[in-house]
Amino acid sequence: MRKIIFLDRDGVVNVERGDYTWKVDDFEFTQNLFEALGNFSEKGYSFVIITNQGGIAKGLYGHEDVLRLNTIIAKEFENHNLELLDIYYSPYHSDFSKSLSRKPDSLMLEKAIDRYGIDVSNSYMIGDSERDILAAQKVGVKGILIAANSSLTRILDQIK
Ligand SMILES: [Mg+2]
Repeated sequence: MRKIIFLDRDGVVNVERGDYTWKVDDFEFTQNLFEALGNFSEKGYSFVIITNQGGIAKGLYGHEDVLRLNTIIAKEFENHNLELLDIYYSPYHSDFSKSLSRKPDSLMLEKAIDRYGIDVSNSYMIGDSERDILAAQKVGVKGILIAANSSLTRILDQIK
C-alpha cells in the first residue's frame, strides 16, 4: 500500500492571496515547496492534492480554469521527480448546495484512498485550515496544520 501526503492547494502548494486564485498570473508556488516535497519523496511518499474550489459554485471561474492550474502544478511536480497521483477538487459551496466532497467532509480523500490503495495509518494531510485537518481525521489520516504560505521545510521532522 502506498503512503501519501495529501496537500491542500491554496496556502500550501500555492500562495493564498486572501481571494480565489484561478488566473495563471495570480498563481505562485509557496516558498521552498519543492525542496520540502523532495525530502518527503525520499522518505517514500507520493502526493495527492485535495482542494475546495467553491469559486466555481459562485460563478467566479470555471472547471477549465482549475484544470489549467492543475496542468501547471502537475508539470512542476514532474519536473521535480515527485509522484503526484491526482488532484481532486470540489466545485461546490455551502451557500449554494450541500456536498460531501467539500472539506471538512472527506469524500475526495475517500475516493483517493480507494483508487490508489492508500495506507491511511502512514499518510498525512497538510493544510492551512481547520477543515483540512477535520477531513483528514474522518478517514484516519494524520493532519498537520500550518500557517498559510509558510514553508513546508519547517515541518520536515513531523513526517517520519
Ligand atoms: Mg488552504
